[in-house]
Amino acid sequence: MLYQDYGTWLRAELGSRIQKISIDAGLTCPNRDGRVGWGGCSFCNNRAFSPEYCREGETVTEQLELGKRFFARKYRDMRYLAYFQAYTGTYGDVERCISLYEEALSVEGVVGVVIGTRPDCMPDELLDYLERLNRRTFLVVEYGVESANDATLKRINRGHTYADSVEAVNRTAVRGIRVGAHVILGLPGEERTDLLRQAAQIGHLPLTTLKLHQLQVIRNTPLERQWRTHPWPMPTVEEYIDLVIDYMTAFAQSRREALPALPPCVCERFVSSSPASLRLAPQWGLKAHEFSAFLQKRLEARTLMKNNLKL
Ligand code: SF4
Repeated sequence: MLYQDYGTWLRAELGSRIQKISIDAGLTCPNRDGRVGWGGCSFCNNRAFSPEYCREGETVTEQLELGKRFFARKYRDMRYLAYFQAYTGTYGDVERCISLYEEALSVEGVVGVVIGTRPDCMPDELLDYLERLNRRTFLVVEYGVESANDATLKRINRGHTYADSVEAVNRTAVRGIRVGAHVILGLPGEERTDLLRQAAQIGHLPLTTLKLHQLQVIRNTPLERQWRTHPWPMPTVEEYIDLVIDYMTAFAQSRREALPALPPCVCERFVSSSPASLRLAPQWGLKAHEFSAFLQKRLEARTLMKNNLKL
């Protein structure tokens, strides 16, 4: 098995249908306020990944209640994870961060917390609290790894190294906390062979979940300026699907070799689709579930081809 399906895994862990609700808790980002850097990562426009119901200025409870109303129409037995997605979910005063997570957990129907953050933003004091929190609720700490290549990380103005990611993932996982990684495929300067090498490196990390997505050029970002000045070719959907399959194959193989006791990683998603009004490229026009269906079809076709060649 290359990977576990995210929805199936969540249901097995939590025993009901689960929906993540994104929250903008008003936390900022050290790569924007000067502590680490200015201007942010070259690809980042937080509006591109914040849903409509997620509005800074409204409390965590208000945002969760809005999100619940939005999703409750789908299934009556739905339970929720509070997803601290916007900016850096562990940045700022530790006591304030803790009170935000606790507020989220006090909302009816919320059965856990997912915290998105940078690898250089996890103080020991907060990790101590998260270790305790993990014993009483469902918790995932998701680190933006983005790339395993320091030259790329510098080029996109990320403000941390791959060694920072390795350290943060290990420090968190050793405490028994589920750790996720977010990786972007197709960052400027990264070719297919670089990415397959990267997959093998990241496969060595004790991750529970992995989130991949294609590079998107979003309006009002430094990447937009680079794209407009020197546009580079974007992969077609078919090329990207083959890349994802090869990436996951290299990742899974490396994980089996390095961490044989761990089950296959849970893959949360392979593609991202920011609002069309903000997205300049690529223009695939596919929703995540359509992409997953294409990926599954291609995976089956490739397995069939491989088996035929063996005959
Ligand atoms: S991607 Fe995260 S770390 Fe980078 S600028 Fe955006 S919020 Fe900050």
